[in-house]
Formats: sequence, C-alpha cells, structure tokens
Amino acid sequence: MPKTICSCSMGKDSLATVILALMHHRPLDEVVYCEVMFDENISGEVPEHRDFIYGTAIPWLQQAGLKITVLRSDLTYKACFTQIIQRGTGKGKLKSFPLCGRCNIQRDCKLRPIRQYMKTLPPGTQQYIGLASDEQDRLLRLRGNQSSLLLEYACSEADARNLCCQYGLLSPIYDFTNRNGCWFCPNAKLSELRRLYDHHPDLWREMLALQALPNKATEKFDREFKFSDYDLLFHNEDAQLCWFT
Ligand code: SF4
Repeated sequence: MPKTICSCSMGKDSLATVILALMHHRPLDEVVYCEVMFDENISGEVPEHRDFIYGTAIPWLQQAGLKITVLRSDLTYKACFTQIIQRGTGKGKLKSFPLCGRCNIQRDCKLRPIRQYMKTLPPGTQQYIGLASDEQDRLLRLRGNQSSLLLEYACSEADARNLCCQYGLLSPIYDFTNRNGCWFCPNAKLSELRRLYDHHPDLWREMLALQALPNKATEKFDREFKFSDYDLLFHNEDAQLCWFT
C-alpha cells in the first residue's frame, strides 16, 4: 500500500504540517527528518534547534503515535569541504566552502538521503512538504506526489508559527532568527553569525580551522567575505565596546 510521509526539518512549517495532519485526521504514516552533520560527531543543526528536536519535538511526535525516521548522509560538511576537486579549473584543490545559492551540502547531505529513502518506500507514496500558503514561488516547485497541507488549510507562515506555539512545538531558534538552517550556512545573516560567535565558540573555532586549510578552491565563506573576516569584525566590535565602557 502507498504510504503518506511528511518530510520534516522540525522547523515551524513542517511541524505545523504534522499538527494539521493530526487535527484533520489526514493520513500520515511516518515523519522523516534528515540531520545534516558537520562531521561524524557534530550536528549541522544550530545547537538550540538540535536540543529542541531531540528533547521536545521527537518525543512529542512519538507520543502522538507517529513513526519517526532519522536519516543522515554518509557525507558530512567537513568531508565535502575537504574533497579534492577532480576536474576543471579547481582541479587538485579542496572543494571548500559551498556556494551561496548552489549549496552542495543541501544536495549531498540532505536531499540525497531523503531521495534514497523515498525509493525504499512503496510506489505512489505521498509526501507532505511544509510550504506555507504565502510561499507561492516555492509552492510552484511541488512535484506529483508532493503536496502542502498548509496550502490546503490556508495556513500562512505566521499561522504556522502560531500553531506550533499553541502546541509547544516552536523551536527556540525563532527567538533569534526567522530561518532554520545549518550553523555553517553561507546564507546566514550577520546576526546569526554573531550569535554563533557569542554562544558557540567551539563551533566558531571549527570554521576558523577550516578557513586556515591551504589549497582551497575558494577562500570566501559567502559571496563577499572570508570566515576570518567575520572573526575580525566581531573581535573589533568587542574591543570597541570595551574601549567605550
Ligand atoms: S541550510 Fe545552508 S548550508 Fe545547510 S544545506 Fe541549506 S543552504 Fe546548505
């Protein structure tokens, strides 16, 4: 029999999708979560979000009687970073930082394990995707076996947030950012990087160590700056603050 699953990042939109499925007695056999890893031991999730996933969200979903499947790719961010490019202009160099807008981590560490897992499910398996009714551009990308319950029940991003709040399922990351991504994401906002610098110096140092590796295809962490530029910026900000106080 075909199944119905929900791909869930444990962010507000995908958790609101699960809540809607339960509220409206829609079919839901399984919640599939894929954890991107920085290396074998360190998650790619922002630590506050990872704590929420394993301490709050998964226990809640299990209590609601749902099957949870956690996927992880064999590849990690660090393994991708240190891969040697085999052809083209960068041949012989480390692949290094993913490109903004064309993130190979998304493809190799997140989408690939989900696609591989989908192949093991019965043909015709349906997939709920957590896209809100006001995300028109992304909704257009839904394929045949994919659907959005948030669209069906006219649930906007703000409604999804409220719904999660109501059920105690809003990740604490939404206290300091409006997006849910890896802590090493090249699309991270300055405020997110500053938070990482302030609250997770161990992770910050991991990135500085990668920045220091020689023979990289690119030195840039994002479109404009090296990771070490942000380190200098925040270090100087702190120094100025000390000077004025
Ligand atoms: S959150 Fe950022 S780094 Fe992580 S997979 Fe998505 S685009 Fe890539």
